[in-house]
Amino acid sequence: MAKLSPEEKRIALQKMSELLRAGAIMLSETCPKCGSPLFKLKSGEIVCPIHGRVVVVKSDEELSRVTVAGVLDALENTITKQLEKVRSIVEKREPSELVDELRVMLMFLDALERVERIKGILGKHDLEKQR
Ligand SMILES: [Zn+2]
Repeated sequence: MAKLSPEEKRIALQKMSELLRAGAIMLSETCPKCGSPLFKLKSGEIVCPIHGRVVVVKSDEELSRVTVAGVLDALENTITKQLEKVRSIVEKREPSELVDELRVMLMFLDALERVERIKGILGKHDLEKQR
């Protein structure tokens, strides 16, 4: 934690004890940004007490999977935002005027479903590896 200011260190220590109380496990790996020890949450997610979610990359295979997961997360976000836009349009108009909007909405929902499915497949792969 050499790179942290005293204030950041104080926050980090506080966060660490919160994480431990929540059942997180302290890992031997450290955060690439600040050097704090990383914690593994019950959900399997790895977090830095300062930076939050951290992705620890260990191999090329893992790197490509991590990247795919990152893109999928971003995509999910984008689709959700677009869906919200369409939803607000749908809310304001008459049903007879909504053919195009509904088509777009269905396409986004389809895309979202696929993203979720791919994420599920990637997640399962991770679980199998940990066994
Ligand atoms: Zn960090």
